Amino acid sequence: MAGAGKKILALSGGVGGAKLALGLAQELPAGALAVLVNTADDFRHHGLHISPDIDTLLYTLSGRSNRAQGWGIEGETWQVREALAALGGDTWFQLGDGDLATHLLRTGLLAEGQALSAVTARLAQAMGIQSAIYPMAEEPVSTLVHTDEGELPFQHYFVRRRCEPAVSGFSFRGLDAARVPAPLQALLASGEVAAVVICPSNPFVSIDPILGVPGLWQQLAALAVPVVAVSPIIGGRAVKGPAAKMMAELGLPVDAAAVVQHYRQRYPGLVSHVVLDNEDAALADALGQSGNEEIAVHNTLMKTLDDKRQLARDVLTKVLKNVLPEARR
Ligand code: GDP
Repeated sequence: MAGAGKKILALSGGVGGAKLALGLAQELPAGALAVLVNTADDFRHHGLHISPDIDTLLYTLSGRSNRAQGWGIEGETWQVREALAALGGDTWFQLGDGDLATHLLRTGLLAEGQALSAVTARLAQAMGIQSAIYPMAEEPVSTLVHTDEGELPFQHYFVRRRCEPAVSGFSFRGLDAARVPAPLQALLASGEVAAVVICPSNPFVSIDPILGVPGLWQQLAALAVPVVAVSPIIGGRAVKGPAAKMMAELGLPVDAAAVVQHYRQRYPGLVSHVVLDNEDAALADALGQSGNEEIAVHNTLMKTLDDKRQLARDVLTKVLKNVLPEARR
């Protein structure tokens, strides 16, 4: 078992990833979780810098997220939206009053020249979060979804068009020029990362942009620590969101094995352990025989806080076999 100071680095998009991140944060010793978050769906709206996935992590890890809705803050008020609508302003992307405070502070601090990683750390601290949250890059990266209606900026595809257009591919503007943020670089160089967990997030628009930051996936592979991928596809379906629909439209089989194949092809040798859902136990043998990963099967459907903590425990104790000091149980 590794000594104190060891950390788990979780890669996350929004809601799916944040669920496991919350379980990990609660099961690990304080400060032993670092989360590396997709920023390729960041965008500007009403002049504000909005980082949807970072905000999902901030609100989830601070216990403020609106679970029923799946985004935003619990108990949110909407006075600004109503005032905006009365002025004829755009309200297709819903911004609650408390959420707006996050975007205002972030936009102001970025305009003063602060880095997104520093601004994110400040927001996390203000919300009482003990885990480190890193944006995948300081530089702006934006996802374009290639569809039968043309290339759509991600939020237009996702929110405005409700994921209806058929997808044929993705591009990430700015990704080639993105660099691993200095604080994350320091963590990777510290020798403290005991394992990497690729959370059950959308492989194409959440995990690919993170691992697409030049040099990052190779750097993670070079850590030579276990890299666990938890499937976001259960029984051929996405729990939420367009991942399964995207797979079908891209001509891929819609199952957890195809997600693993996708990671194998793009990041050869990176993933060492795969977690499939109990419902997909039948896929385990063939998947194990076609690659080098260790395949584990657990309940991965996280409906309750107990489910999140249980999956985190399974990952930490059964898949990773306690690479970290005693969890906080
Ligand atoms: P988004 O940015 O809010 O779309 O969230 P993510 O990229 O983090 O996650 C979306 C993916 O998470 C979808 O493919 C879902 O199927 C998956 N997901 C959501 N909840 C769960 C869950 O409880 N268990 C598993 N295994 N996957 C989940």
